[in-house]
Amino acid sequence: MRAYNFCAGPAALPTAVLEKAQSELLNWQGKGVSIMEMSHRNKDYVAVAEKAEADFRDLLNIPDNYKVLFLQGGATLQFSAIPLNLLGKNNQADYISTGIWSEKAIKEAQRYGNIHTIDATFQKEGKTAIADSSTWQLSENASYVHYCDNETIGGIQFNEVPKTTAPLVVDLSSSILSAPLDVSKFGLIYAGAQKNIGPAGLTIVIVRDDLLDQTKPEIPSLLKYSAQADNGSMLNTPATYSWYLAGLVFEWLKEQGGVEAIHQKNLEKANLLYGYIDQSKFYDNPIAQPNRSIMNVPFTLADSSLDKEFLKQAEAAHLLNLAGHRSVGGMRASIYNAVPLEGVQALIEFMEQFATKHG
Ligand SMILES: *Cc1c(COP(=O)(O)O)cnc(C)c1O
Repeated sequence: MRAYNFCAGPAALPTAVLEKAQSELLNWQGKGVSIMEMSHRNKDYVAVAEKAEADFRDLLNIPDNYKVLFLQGGATLQFSAIPLNLLGKNNQADYISTGIWSEKAIKEAQRYGNIHTIDATFQKEGKTAIADSSTWQLSENASYVHYCDNETIGGIQFNEVPKTTAPLVVDLSSSILSAPLDVSKFGLIYAGAQKNIGPAGLTIVIVRDDLLDQTKPEIPSLLKYSAQADNGSMLNTPATYSWYLAGLVFEWLKEQGGVEAIHQKNLEKANLLYGYIDQSKFYDNPIAQPNRSIMNVPFTLADSSLDKEFLKQAEAAHLLNLAGHRSVGGMRASIYNAVPLEGVQALIEFMEQFATKHG
């Protein structure tokens, strides 16, 4: 039996995708070998890679003046790649801080240029909220403005795209493909795969063509977007199996009705879980309503000495990986695209039983 997996990442994958991968693991499409034993230059593999890109473009309606790159090194390597690619002209950028991941991006960017940071969070009636972008003191001459749409650890998410004059760069690692997105509002979008795209090992970058000529001269060629774009993301051997599996996830997502349809399901799941937490005296969520993440739901128990017992009993009920990030403690339920509504219902039922017994 497959358990309900609330892991923040690497996260749950759709069972149908794993079954399909399993069915063609030993002998991909009658070729007598696994797809992971094939050259990335093989025309059959190239077709798989290109189909994945085409489906991904379709799902997010990506305009033609954007490149889509399938890279390695995780979102974390993009924390360096972005300044190295985009700071070449005036060496200045604005970074918005809303939590642990945006702080990590800031730390790395500071190695490469003048980084102006803005802490955009504030306390509102005891909950954490994000200040409207109209209140931010942005620099006159930033090459770009960087932010993290969904702070995976804090469970805090932007509820609209910030308004800036400089090109917007967004870390979408834990929210990509969870809701419709107007790509034309961005200069660059990046996301590690292991939350909503596929298994770890792959990172997708969507970058607007006019931003490809501002690299710093010392940039490693593997990190250079223009070089990767010119080579179909195959400057060296790409993460072939992760790319293939991402392609299967995109096909699955299209079968679910695309991003609009999965967004409705995600809202239903998130509303159900937050609704339960809000009416409970035993559980609490620390984020102000408009900025609650629809992907990562952190919550605390009224008595934290029960945390261990909660996790133990949850695991016995096949509800896995509910511990909060090691840096913040408490609980966190990650309810990405691949986590079904039934999983959230089962979680709520368990939480209610636990609260009744221990409250
Ligand atoms: C997971 C995550 C990262 C880090 O991804 P890696 O692939 O481990 O480098 C960065 N940003 C956000 C928002 C994340 O959720």
